[in-house]
Amino acid sequence: MNEKPTLFSGIKPTGIPHIGNYLGALKQWVDLQGKYNCIYSIVDYHAITIAIDKDELQKNIYTTARILLSIGINPDKSILFLQSTIPEHTELCWIFNCLTPMSELQRMTQFKDKAKQHRQNINAGLFDYPVLMAADILLYNAEFVPVGEDQLQHIELTRIIAKKFNNRYGEMFAMPKPIVGPAKRVMSLNNPTKKMSKDLGESSYISLLDPPEVVEKKVKKAVTDTGPTDANNMSAGVKNLFDLLVYFDNNSAYQRFMQQYQQGTIKYSELKQELANTINKTLDPIRTKASNITDDDIKKILQSGANKARQIAQAKINKIKQTVGTFI
Ligand code: ADP
Repeated sequence: MNEKPTLFSGIKPTGIPHIGNYLGALKQWVDLQGKYNCIYSIVDYHAITIAIDKDELQKNIYTTARILLSIGINPDKSILFLQSTIPEHTELCWIFNCLTPMSELQRMTQFKDKAKQHRQNINAGLFDYPVLMAADILLYNAEFVPVGEDQLQHIELTRIIAKKFNNRYGEMFAMPKPIVGPAKRVMSLNNPTKKMSKDLGESSYISLLDPPEVVEKKVKKAVTDTGPTDANNMSAGVKNLFDLLVYFDNNSAYQRFMQQYQQGTIKYSELKQELANTINKTLDPIRTKASNITDDDIKKILQSGANKARQIAQAKINKIKQTVGTFI
């Protein structure tokens, strides 16, 4: 590791990453390589806070890694590893558990949302998830965390935990700051008042491996409205389609369709066709690269990433344990 500041971020292997993940976080992961010491993790211990089948989880781990490599995460520039291969994450989580007020965790909106969605499985891990996330970040003394808007409250909690530790035991952790890009909250296609998420079903999101015809079908089905009303009062669904044109760098189409929208001449079918073509242009090379990466390649890359992460994690946890007094 050199003089550059460290940056950490993670993604849950809960399915095939979607364009919300890509635009909100993963695209930045790629762009920030080289400027920071980037450490990226596939956070499988976070994934099991929701009941998930073993084979499904295994498949998702490989698919998530395959996608990260296909969008441009370069294992020569960044550390890429599977969270559970570094037990220091859960070790530090326990130390942080003993510093984190229950009242802070009770405020977390993501816990409240997920608890509503998974009433049959409101487990202690789901409640504790933000503390494990704090451990993920602080174990590497990361100063920056590229995330979507939904994670900002968790980063704030990470800072609270770091401060509590530093106040009690002396300076140990940097205060991490979020890096939020322009696409901080991509909305769901079938329910545009909610964020795009795998939880809202297949037609909510476009996965990065959806074939071109599926992308077209999903965009065509996206919720819009019966026609332009007031340009300042655009419906959430139409706004999301316009935003997506910008996020996928098709500004000229954005201008053209916006003019038509303001004049009341827009045809949503044409806007949707243009958007589907635009998305497919970005996804084409990702799909091709993904089909050329084998499970063996992935295993080697994740193992080599774990070896690098382990060195940093072990040195840090030893220091932390010395400070806390949990050693002989
Ligand atoms: P998910 O919410 O789909 O299960 P993760 O929790 O693994 O995905 O999130 C991975 C990254 O993607 C996080 O930084 C998160 O903030 C970001 N992200 C997830 N959904 C969206 C979205 N709809 N818009 C923008 N960013 C998102």
